[in-house]
Amino acid sequence: MADNAKLFNDINSGWTAILQALKQDQDVPAVSYKTWLTPLRPDSFSDNTLYVIYPGDRRGIDYIDKKYKFYLQRAIEYITGINCNIILITESDSRLPHTQKTMSSFITMNGNRLNPVYTFDNFVVGNSNKFAQAVSLAVAESPGELYNPLYIHGGVGLGKTHLMHAIALFILQNNPDARVLYTTCEAFNNDLLEAIRNKNNYTFRDKYRNADILLIDDIQFLSRGGEYIQEEIFNTFNHLYELKKQIVFASDRPPKEIDNIDTRIISRFLQGITVEILPPDLETRVAILRKKEEIENYNIDAEVINYIASKVKSNIRELEGALKKVIAFSKLNNKEVNLELAQETLKDHLSMYNEQEITSLRIREVVAEHFGIKVSDLASEKRSKDIAFPRHVAMYLCCELTTDSLTSIARVLGKKDHSTVIHGRNKIIEDMKTDEELKNKIEILKKKLSPS
Ligand code: ADP
Ligand code: MG
Repeated sequence: MADNAKLFNDINSGWTAILQALKQDQDVPAVSYKTWLTPLRPDSFSDNTLYVIYPGDRRGIDYIDKKYKFYLQRAIEYITGINCNIILITESDSRLPHTQKTMSSFITMNGNRLNPVYTFDNFVVGNSNKFAQAVSLAVAESPGELYNPLYIHGGVGLGKTHLMHAIALFILQNNPDARVLYTTCEAFNNDLLEAIRNKNNYTFRDKYRNADILLIDDIQFLSRGGEYIQEEIFNTFNHLYELKKQIVFASDRPPKEIDNIDTRIISRFLQGITVEILPPDLETRVAILRKKEEIENYNIDAEVINYIASKVKSNIRELEGALKKVIAFSKLNNKEVNLELAQETLKDHLSMYNEQEITSLRIREVVAEHFGIKVSDLASEKRSKDIAFPRHVAMYLCCELTTDSLTSIARVLGKKDHSTVIHGRNKIIEDMKTDEELKNKIEILKKKLSPS
């Protein structure tokens, strides 16, 4: 290992001289030198192989590989006396574990693996996410100093987890010894219950309170967790905050929308900065597909990319899924990827989340998910407050957003009589006049139902 570091250091410090030597040796024209050689950067050294980054796409790499690699090898030997293999990689490859050392930097102190693809480099910035991206990068560059806590929220599949991993990876890359801890709220809860069961609360506390950076994903789970978790999150937060350790949360909704949680916790969430990620516009969707194309080394026509981007609007995971589906379909049928094939593949594609028509059934699903209750409860006769209130909200939304008859809305929501629906709707209209929070909630639900 130490040898590798030394060899790498020798090459790295002689890099300019190496490139110059190659230029002279091969009489490389200035423009070629500037295009192909000056962008190259040594990345790491292991198994007698030097990994060199070319910050462009694979086509560039293939070209350099054929045209210059041999001479680069020779120039390295000429300048440093080191005879090694060379592997050219892209910027995103450089985050992939090609050596033991980089390998360990993808694992957080609780043993969670970070996805090496979820880097800032691979995160496409557009109007819908640029503020969230900028703040996340600032936090990664100066953890604990500027925005603490950072609270990221937005709909499903819009890049919250990607940004969290990017922060964690960035910090680990700059400081491999940083104690970075990424977890989901649910995993935190399970860990806590396990600790309580085994009576080793101290080990649990040690683990979370020793973190330099704590990232907790899907924090909306708090409203469903057991009685201990809120207390534990609150105390862990205070402990780390006092020590100026960075804390990052991600959630599918803003802090005030998380039901059944202690106001003390909400005020902690609001203490730092809150950023929202919105569904991407067409331009950003196209750019994301292009990025994916680059990472996966596909080569796809613009009209196909545009078609997919126009088809899937508000969930990036689905957008990527649609692209994968088209590629898979082309391989399976041994056909070239073109517009016709894409149309054929996606003709029955109905987005799970957003491209559907708004129906009472869908409202029922989205409302249940939002309030963390079961669809079957919403559709039952249960009258307890935690069910009755969401049901009123659903009634209101069904009246507002669909043309379904009152009788069919009543049926979908477990009621026999259409007058119950009118009653529920009126109650919400009345309450919204004075209840700002409720008004907000309705706005968010409407956005979830039809984001564009
Ligand atoms: P969330 O946690 O908000 O549900 P994820 O972070 O899991 O969403 O993102 C879903 C998928 O979309 C991931 O594969 C992620 O890499 C991709 N993605 C999201 N936003 C972007 C972006 N701005 N640029 C590139 N890929 C993105
Ligand atoms: Mg996520």
